[in-house]
Amino acid sequence: MKGSESTIVTIVGVDKVFGSNSRLTLAVKNVSLQLSLGQLVVILGPSGSGKTTLLTLIAGLTKPTAGEVYLCGEKIEEYSPRELQKLRARRLGFVFQDFLLIESLTVLENVALVLRFAGRSRWAARRRARELLEQFHIEHLEEKYPTKLSQGEKQRVAIARAIANDADLILADEPTASLESTQGFEIIKLLHRYVKEQ
Ligand code: ADP
Ligand code: MG
Repeated sequence: MKGSESTIVTIVGVDKVFGSNSRLTLAVKNVSLQLSLGQLVVILGPSGSGKTTLLTLIAGLTKPTAGEVYLCGEKIEEYSPRELQKLRARRLGFVFQDFLLIESLTVLENVALVLRFAGRSRWAARRRARELLEQFHIEHLEEKYPTKLSQGEKQRVAIARAIANDADLILADEPTASLESTQGFEIIKLLHRYVKEQ
């Protein structure tokens, strides 16, 4: 165990090196941080400074070259691949820079899918997905496919999906990068409200 009840992520002295021999990239260098429930943390840095790499390390999607990553109280290597997958499905939410909505599924189905992964019945997943769409004022889009949506609408769907399973930790990689500044501000407000209320 590492940290208190409310600690979700602890990272200690983490390095991540890509490549081999003469072509080494030190993407993350000696990073230590702790993330707890109820915090909204922003990681700032220029392109190529290692932000995405750090998020993948936190989610256990990549292994650190050095240092330790603890997720939900356990060292990440202690989890089996299956346990880690379950943990991600039940406790983490992701908002990717390019949204990664599934184009062959409707808006409602995109949100419901993560709830199915987290173990809910088809009926319960659809009901919860509807609730979320209402909360984000996009219930009128439920039968639409992602290609028919504006960037701002896609981003709302992506965030609804990320918080659908009452995630304890939402990892958002440049969630406002492809939006106009007013829309970007809206997204930050939505995330902030979620952190405060949940
Ligand atoms: P950011 O998200 O801040 O733009 P990244 O984490 O994507 O930065 O990248 C950090 C550095 O690591 C960059 O120099 C990038 O080219 C390199 N990098 C990232 N992922 C890989 C990879 N899979 N293989 C090799 N180099 C990588
Ligand atoms: Mg990045």
